[in-house]
Amino acid sequence: MKPLIIANWKCNPISLKEAKKLFNSLKKGIKNNKKAEIIICPPFIYLSVFKKPFLNFKLGAQDCFWEEKGAFTGEISPKMLKDLGVSHVIIGHSERRKYLKENYTMVNKKLKVALKNNLKPIFCVGSMKRGKKGNEEIRSQLEKALEGVKRSNIKNIIFTYEPIWAISTTKGSVVATPENTKEGAILIRKTVAQLFGQSIKVKVIYGGSVDSTNIKGFIEKAEMDGVLIGAVSLRADDFIRAVKNIDPVRSSQEIKSKSGF
Ligand code: PEP
Repeated sequence: MKPLIIANWKCNPISLKEAKKLFNSLKKGIKNNKKAEIIICPPFIYLSVFKKPFLNFKLGAQDCFWEEKGAFTGEISPKMLKDLGVSHVIIGHSERRKYLKENYTMVNKKLKVALKNNLKPIFCVGSMKRGKKGNEEIRSQLEKALEGVKRSNIKNIIFTYEPIWAISTTKGSVVATPENTKEGAILIRKTVAQLFGQSIKVKVIYGGSVDSTNIKGFIEKAEMDGVLIGAVSLRADDFIRAVKNIDPVRSSQEIKSKSGF
């Protein structure tokens, strides 16, 4: 499997004109990319502008609601996203947990409805705490969010290890090392295996201050299936450089055997 590179534009850029400019620069820069599977997640309102199918990347949304339709003012349903040609959706991002008080009961409902509608969730877990306390929090996030999810659907989830202390916009953030990151991935794989059985395949990516200089380390040394990129995805040149700086080729299966379970 090719590594996944996911661009999360968050609440940027502030005009359609700038969004189109960024989109077109990325499209041009990654035209000949064969190394990675790229997914671009712009704000909802730009999705329809970028909706036609593109050869070298897919479209993702940054959230979706847990109901398919109805009296839910302001919400966007998974069915609406599907209708726009969206294939992926970020669920449970730490900024939604922080600013919108989204909890893992809500995340659980969103995960299930996204999967039901054949959207691939980019499902985020992570803590502001480090060490044992942080690990316990992540384990609990996974247990709550995955309750009632069918085993056959686990392969469709992109588990995203997102230590909040390493996100570029977190005050006083610290860039994680591939070693820190690898521990996070192992924790996720082990917890999912405990919940769903040892033979389960788990795709894990990493998010937190990824750029063109450190991407290779996260994918190779930390044995990640890919990365989620925030701030750098708004700078076309940097993002394109990051895509060019990876090697393709590793599969979840290889990672599983390397990690020893
Ligand atoms: C994020 O918020 O998920 C993220 C990875 O952001 P950044 O790349 O800016 O650290």
